[in-house]
Amino acid sequence: MKYELETIPVWDAYRAGGECPVCILEKKNEAQNVKYFLGDSVMDPDTRVAANEKGFCVYHSELLFEGGHKLGLALMTHTYLARFLADLRRKRAEEPDAKARSKRPSVEWPAFFRATRSACLFCERLAATIDRYVFTIVYLYKKDEDFRKTFHASNGFCLPHLARALEMAEENLSGAIREEFTRELLALEEKRLAVLEGEIDWFTQKFDYRNQDKPWGNSADALPRVLQKLKGHRFLDRK
Ligand SMILES: [Zn+2]
Ligand SMILES: [Zn+2]
Repeated sequence: MKYELETIPVWDAYRAGGECPVCILEKKNEAQNVKYFLGDSVMDPDTRVAANEKGFCVYHSELLFEGGHKLGLALMTHTYLARFLADLRRKRAEEPDAKARSKRPSVEWPAFFRATRSACLFCERLAATIDRYVFTIVYLYKKDEDFRKTFHASNGFCLPHLARALEMAEENLSGAIREEFTRELLALEEKRLAVLEGEIDWFTQKFDYRNQDKPWGNSADALPRVLQKLKGHRFLDRK
């Protein structure tokens, strides 16, 4: 599969440094998508149909709720609920009675209701953008020697984006370069995780009164950085 290249934003994210360049891009994109979903997309019929169908996960519902445009969100939530209610009515009408149930299984109600928590149009849109960035990283690694040097000097990725980078390399590289990318990336990652392990260890030891006056070193913000490394962009720039 081919993706559009995003060379400039990828270089900018690498220049910014930190635990994961893709997290920087994801956070920026997420903020743009909040504006998109609360703005133009409310009037776009295709997006409205998709939003009615899928809705938003808990996290993105919360982001949209805090996004400063209650009317936009209320319009989308209203049509989502109307569609959901129609679906519920249809399913209830189709539900077999006790006699017929032996022949036809009843509706999987728990799964039906639970699906509303996880399906998310926002997550899908964001993931498609992230794929373009990760594809660009793999592409630049193959084509650009300067980028390869920058990549080797970086801190790798957070674990969710590491997984995507490995998949993307598997799909889009072959032969020796694929071997090298995977091996170098895993080495980079292991080295960085060992540094972080030391930093968060020192963070916990600073709570001991005997260490009170000793310097923090790089550990003052170790907790959000380690959480970002393990969990992804939601912990980027947290204090
Ligand atoms: Zn990341
Ligand atoms: Zn989501």
